[in-house]
Amino acid sequence: MKTANMNTIKLFQENVYMRKFTATVVNKNIEDGQNVIVLDQTAFFPVGGGQSSDLGTINGFPISDVYEKNGVIFHIVNGSPDFNTGDMVNCEIDWARRFKNMQRHCGEHILSGMFFKEYGGVNQGFHMGEEYMTIDISLEENSGFTEITWDMAKNIENLSNKVIWENAPVTTRCFKNREEASKLPLRKALAVDENIVIVCVGNVENPSDCVACCGTHPAFAGEVGLIKILKVESNKGMYRIHFKAGEEALFDYQNKHELVAKLNSKYSANTFDLLEKILIQEEKNKAFRTQLNTFRQLLLKERIIETENALAASDGIVVVSFEALKTDDLLQIGRSVTDKISKLLLIVSYDESTIFFFSKDKAVDCGKLVKETAHIYNGKGGGNDTQARAILPKAENIPTYIDLIEKHLR
Ligand SMILES: [Zn+2]
Repeated sequence: MKTANMNTIKLFQENVYMRKFTATVVNKNIEDGQNVIVLDQTAFFPVGGGQSSDLGTINGFPISDVYEKNGVIFHIVNGSPDFNTGDMVNCEIDWARRFKNMQRHCGEHILSGMFFKEYGGVNQGFHMGEEYMTIDISLEENSGFTEITWDMAKNIENLSNKVIWENAPVTTRCFKNREEASKLPLRKALAVDENIVIVCVGNVENPSDCVACCGTHPAFAGEVGLIKILKVESNKGMYRIHFKAGEEALFDYQNKHELVAKLNSKYSANTFDLLEKILIQEEKNKAFRTQLNTFRQLLLKERIIETENALAASDGIVVVSFEALKTDDLLQIGRSVTDKISKLLLIVSYDESTIFFFSKDKAVDCGKLVKETAHIYNGKGGGNDTQARAILPKAENIPTYIDLIEKHLR
């Protein structure tokens, strides 16, 4: 029987399509409150190389993480597992998740391989996010190209999808040392000296990709299904390629198609004249906004004259109320007539349940007045001695609130 410190047999290296297997528990520990399980052999791929770990179950108990340390693979199992060291357990991997990871990971190989083959671009970084994946391509070692344009990326996208349609075989070769492995047309220098696994997409004499990798890959490129580049951005002297592969690329197409279909319906357009129709609508909206602003300025002028007339007719508290004007407009009215105020001007907006206070030469301290009175109607607000505002929770209380202010200032 295997012991806890012996290397775990990696069943995913022997058969990447293994979904169910039995194994013997060689160690079961609780570390930081978590069940840590070591099996003699496992098909669960541990997190690494940019690929997230497999999930699944051991005897029906869900796995939340799988990682490798010094050749031993550890499984974090939730709940209270009913098995012990020495027991035989039934394991099942979450195949949908694994297959999606294989599609995405292999898609990354093909894309990186084609950037290398066509432009001499070297993959210097890989990120496999939930939403999309990125690779960082460096052109520094190649003299022929100085940048990756969108057209160049589209060319790589087309070539990568051709590799998929040709259903190129994806092969894995294991080498004991780097001497033999280095003879292959690798796109990246080897980082390890022994137990090297080389993954090749297509013919090894002229591969679409050839690189050292310990991840999980489908047997044929056709299983990747589809590769779609989303964005190319310049990043720290390199080019960051955002892309999707496999099922995720299809979902992305489905979502975007639905979005375009909704926009087509909204703009009575088809996919070919949608943008044109949106631009026409934007132009119309711009003309409406200009016209609206002209009307607004005319209305404001009228309201200012009305307010001036009301101020000229009274040396006490003057109250005016205007509809359909926003805070900025009401402030503009008040500020335009300040020098004509004798005591206090109140501009009321029932729409916004707000009263604006304006006074001149500290005839009334507006801020102080709001502070002393607004709370009586559960209102809030404030300001300075010549300008303030009170906002009441209920607009219907505004008339009685104004009565209160008049009494307060008597
Ligand atoms: Zn790989």
